[in-house]
This record gives sequence, C-alpha cells and structure tokens, in this order.
Amino acid sequence: MKEIEMSIPIGRDLTDGEMLSAAARALGVAPGKVSRCKVLRRSIDARNDIVYRYRIAAYVSGEECPEYRLEEYRDVSSAEPVIIIGAGPAGLFAALKLLMRGFRPVILERGKDVHGRKPDMAALSVSGKVDPDSNYCFGEGGAGAFSDGKLYTRSSKRGDIREVLHQLVLFGADPEILVDAHPHIGSDRLPLIVENIRNCIVSHGGEYHFGTKVTDIERNTDGSISVRTASVSGAPAAGRGSCQDSGAEHEDIFRARRVILATGHSARDIYGLFDGKGWALEAKGFALGVRVEHPQSLINRIQYHGRYQPFMPTAEYSFVTQVKDRGVFSFCMCPGGILVPSATSDGEVVLNGMSNSARNSRWANAGVVVSVEPGDMPQYGRYGALSLMQFQKDVEQSMFRFSGSLKAPAQRMMDFCRGVESRDLPATSYRPGAVAAPLHELLPEHVSQRLRLAFPETGNRKLKGYYTNDALLLGVESRTSSPVRIPRDPETLEYVSLPGLYPCGEGAGYAGGIVSSALDGINCAARLAAALAE
Ligand SMILES: Cc1cc2nc3c(=O)[nH]c(=O)nc-3n(C[C@H](O)[C@H](O)[C@H](O)COP(=O)(O)OP(=O)(O)OC[C@H]3O[C@@H](n4cnc5c(N)ncnc54)[C@H](O)[C@@H]3O)c2cc1C
Repeated sequence: MKEIEMSIPIGRDLTDGEMLSAAARALGVAPGKVSRCKVLRRSIDARNDIVYRYRIAAYVSGEECPEYRLEEYRDVSSAEPVIIIGAGPAGLFAALKLLMRGFRPVILERGKDVHGRKPDMAALSVSGKVDPDSNYCFGEGGAGAFSDGKLYTRSSKRGDIREVLHQLVLFGADPEILVDAHPHIGSDRLPLIVENIRNCIVSHGGEYHFGTKVTDIERNTDGSISVRTASVSGAPAAGRGSCQDSGAEHEDIFRARRVILATGHSARDIYGLFDGKGWALEAKGFALGVRVEHPQSLINRIQYHGRYQPFMPTAEYSFVTQVKDRGVFSFCMCPGGILVPSATSDGEVVLNGMSNSARNSRWANAGVVVSVEPGDMPQYGRYGALSLMQFQKDVEQSMFRFSGSLKAPAQRMMDFCRGVESRDLPATSYRPGAVAAPLHELLPEHVSQRLRLAFPETGNRKLKGYYTNDALLLGVESRTSSPVRIPRDPETLEYVSLPGLYPCGEGAGYAGGIVSSALDGINCAARLAAALAE
C-alpha cells in the first residue's frame, strides 16, 4: 500500500480514472496492476488555487485492503438490563455498544422523542417560555440533535472515531463524513439518524422511556442501584408504548446492577442532587463569552480571498489566541447557520448555533469565549464544587434581567471593543430578537476585557475583515462545556462515590462535543460490560 496526495480544483469530483493513473504512477506499476484506491481524507486548501486535497491509499494486486468492521448488534431481549440516563450522543452510543456486548439498554429520558421536541423548540422563540424538559438541550438526541452536527474532535486519544462515524453512516449520514476533514451532518438530517438509532435499539430488545426524569439515585443493600423517576407531563405516551416493557422493576423506580449517567452539562438538577447527598463533585474550568454573527458572504470573502463561488462549501473559521494569560477562542462555528435560544429554564438567556446540511443561511455564527478557571471567582467560593455552575447561571440570568425576555442583549463588534452602546443593530438570525445593550459592561469584567482585545487582534492578524461593525455580538454563550466534573475511577470509570454508576459524556466533565461524548459513551459501556462479564 502506498499513500498518495492529489489535488483537484474545487467544484468537481475526483474520478476513478484520475485516482488510478496517479496510483499507478506512485506505485510504479501499470494501471491494471492497481487493485484498489481508497480515499482516506478530503480537505479544502484555499491558500493559493482553491483545491480539494485528497489523501488516497493505493493497493497493488494481491495486497489486502483492510476494511473497518463494526461489531454486530445482538438480540438482547432477554439479557441483563443496564440503565442509561439520558439519550444524548453519550447515552445513545453507550446503548449501541451494550447491544454489541450483549446487554440490554433501558434508556430513561426526561424529554420527548426527537420529532416531538420540534414544536416545543418552535414555540420557544414565539412564546419566550422555556419547557424545562423539552428544549434545544433536552430530549431524544440530546443537545446534539438540533445543531450543526459538526463531527470533529480535537483529541484522538479518547478512542476510535471510526466507530462513531461508521455507525452514523449506517443510520443514514452521508458516507462523505468518513473522509471529510471537517465532517458535519446538519439539523435537517440529524433527527432521522436519531430515530434510526432508536429503531435499532428497540428492534434488538432495548427500551426507551420518554418523559421520564430521574430525580434520585440510591445504592441498594445488595449492591444494585435504584433510579427514581418522575413522569414529565406533556411527554407523548408513545415513548413508553412503542417500546417493550422492561421486565426490570419499574413504576417510578428502575433497578439494575449498573447505571450509565449521561445527562449532559445542562442537567443542573443532577449536580444539585449529588451535591445535596454529599457525593464527590469538582468545579471544572469552562469557557464563557458571546455568540458572534457575521454576514456569511463576508466570511466567504475572507476565507476564500475574494474568490468564493456558490458551488464552493460555505466557509468556516476558527481561531485561538492568548490574552492576558488566558485562552480566548472561537467555539462551535456554524457556517450558513442560525442562532437558537438554548436556555433550559425560564429567566435565563443562552445562545447557541445550528445549521442545516446545506449551510445556506446568510449568516455565519460562532461562540467566541474566554476560559474561566475555578480560582477566578473567589466570591463564588461558598458554592464549593458548584461555584462555576452558579457563576454561569448568574451571567445567564443577568442577560435575561436586562432584556426581560429571551431577546439577547447585543452590541456591534467595534462598539463593544470601544465601549459604546450601538445606536442600531444589524438584522440577526436569532428569532427571539436582540436588544441593544452595553455588553461590554454586562459581561464579567475579565471576560469582557479579553474579548475586547481579542477581536481587533484577530481581525488584524488572522482573519482580515473580521473586526467590523457589521458583526453582531449577542450574550451569552455559556454552555460550552460542563462547569462541574463528576469524578470517576480512572481504571473502572465508575463514580468514586457510587460504584456501579458510570458518569459519562459531557455532563460528567470528560467530553465536549458530539463525537467525544459518543466516544465516552462507548468507553463507559465497554468497561461496564467487561466488569459485568467478569
Ligand atoms: C444548539 C447546539 C448546537 C451544538 N452544535 C454542536 C456541533 O455542531 N458539534 C458538536 O460536536 N457539538 C455541538 N453541540 C454540543 C453537543 O451537542 C454536546 O456536546 C453533546 O450533545 C453532549 O452529549 P451528551 O450525551 O454528553 O449530553 P447531552 O447531549 O446534553 O444529552 C443529555 C441528555 O440527558 C437528558 N437528561 C438530562 N437530565 C435528565 C434527567 N434528570 N433524567 C433523564 N434524562 C435527563 C437530556 O434530556 C438529554 O437528552 C451543540 C449543542 C447545542 C445546544
């Protein structure tokens, strides 16, 4: 096998003939002796001519071309149940791993099924009322179900990302995600994939309970774990009815030897529950700042150096810089996307972004955030492990207090950096709307100060044209990762305060983003299955 690199002008596909001739040349054989060419990676290079760069594995006749194979899902109808709390990426990929290892996932989810969530999210923008169990963060598919569906992770040490990507393709994602350097799925396609995952889990004997909110967790004298739940009104009966009965003890209590806790970083009630019991929790650094919205045409112009054509992929950007010894970075950029209200309780304003697969809105948005560390706010010390969560909540509530609704306090970028309120605001994709505000004063001083230095620096050095008053900053981007960690044993991955419970995914503080949360779900389920099989 030989790996070769090829470039072709953007806007057309690489043909088999082109690959074959390039492979034959690289291998020094006649084209007839090349048995297989496999694209490993495709990325865009806009530094000079705008091209797609391909990395290709070329094989000669007689050579074996290894294929990635997923473990098979088994029928687990009569297997031992494992409770999974939360049907986000971590919970769902944990459930799929359990099917592979012969255990029966019993999924408890406070929200609705993925399609049932849509009316609640639509109503949010109109009524301004947040359903605490059905919103952009809570419900089947978790926080990742209505997002840009970006599938990259900065770290490969968490596990084999192919296990996540190949399963997403199996459930309906475009196979191009297997080779794209920056794969994404889009909000219009994710719900069907989430539904297909559910159909797979249920058809193999697993179980879903929607509208089932976990309110307590206890260890029984026999070492098993009881999970107490409350029914959430308004959740469709179909969630229960469409799935088979667990056989595990339930009414409002489920019991199993092992439980995976994958409730995400917005489940503040779970942190409160553990804190109230005196169980171990740690304050964890996270990041907070604003959502920045530019016209997408401007970002296209910057990134493609004025040579953007409509057939080219919508341009992305990312940056990271240090200001006064602290990281300031772009986060979860949504090209051709829209801003969405992602609060989980009334009385708070929280923004996030999402895009459809075509990434074709006229806006580009991204979080631009500053790292916040546990020692930064001594005034929150009395909240102990929940200090940064309380800080996060206070900032979100201060935004709500300013606007009196889900409208986002907003300021033009240059006005923000100069410390003057904007006299008017440009149009925004954020449906609840924006209200002119002194964001430079509303944000915590150490965040505001660094952002005000980072924007002009980024515009001058990295993204020329980025620093402009056509860009709107909206507050607040605060749910970047968990401000709390639920510590686990590094070997067994069990919760240090309750063996048999596996804190998992973003809410446990061990992952951030769809792929890394899914990988953490896979790791926890694999470790748990090995422990049960001993
Ligand atoms: C609008 C938006 C866009 C995003 N875009 C991207 C993106 O493009 N790419 C990316 O990598 N990441 C993105 N993210 C972040 C990503 O979605 C999360 O990192 C990821 O979903 C975390 O997975 P998780 O399974 O750990 O938790 P979550 O997805 O948060 O899932 C937790 C689940 O637990 C349930 N739950 C909570 N409490 C309870 C309880 N007490 N009882 C029962 N169930 C409970 C919730 O309803 C939820 O379904 C986005 C997030 C949002 C909000």
